[in-house]
Amino acid sequence: MQEQVSYKIASQEFGVELIDAHCHLDLFEDYEIAIKDARMAGIRAIITSGGSRKSSLASIKIANEDNVFAVIGIDPQGYENDADFVSEIAKIIHSNKKIVGIGEIGLDYKLPKVDKELQKKVFVEQIEIAKKLDVPIVVHSRGAIEDVIKIVQEFEVNKAMFHFFEGNEVQAKELAERGYLISIPPIESSRRKRVINALGLSSIAVETDSPVVGKSPIDVIKTVGWIAEIKVSSFKDAAFVITQNVKKLFSI
Ligand SMILES: [Zn+2]
Repeated sequence: MQEQVSYKIASQEFGVELIDAHCHLDLFEDYEIAIKDARMAGIRAIITSGGSRKSSLASIKIANEDNVFAVIGIDPQGYENDADFVSEIAKIIHSNKKIVGIGEIGLDYKLPKVDKELQKKVFVEQIEIAKKLDVPIVVHSRGAIEDVIKIVQEFEVNKAMFHFFEGNEVQAKELAERGYLISIPPIESSRRKRVINALGLSSIAVETDSPVVGKSPIDVIKTVGWIAEIKVSSFKDAAFVITQNVKKLFSI
């Protein structure tokens, strides 16, 4: 806790602005408080993510808040029941500037009940919409990174952020070379450290996946501190580059 406070002060002292590139504000008990606290800690913007029809609709509403943006889409868990929502995504994104991408979408092979072929089909459908609209996708991958990489290459995805990246450093580098962002969650591990080491700062985003993983969007501050340490960079320089990466990808 003490550490969190010192990073919090650091972010204010250096005047840097951070972005939580992926969280689920609709799952907070009171998202207005979460947004207010984040703002006070120097979080410039928050990108909240859909994944089902319900969470996508909730995210659209929450994106009315200042400096909050949303991505909407159907994740593998929703492929069986919510796949018809996919046909509505294009119209919603087209008419709302605060909806800045399609996500989270992808493959989750830890959900054995959801047929892999169905997963690929709905994933690709959403990729095609993103390409047509020229918006980024936010990729969810669990136990499926090889197939996810195959699909984004085969369907020539232009803009993507790999949320909660589960791959290794070789895969991370390969994706970074294609211009995608690799998003680092607030959990330190030696594999993640190798991934960060292999990447240039210009390919990195930070996220909290809160409240599912992190407690709040403020947790990105600690992750940026960790990345700065690994990259032997100042907190301020790392924060600046990481924030620019996310602003550029989502055009915010
Ligand atoms: Zn998530």
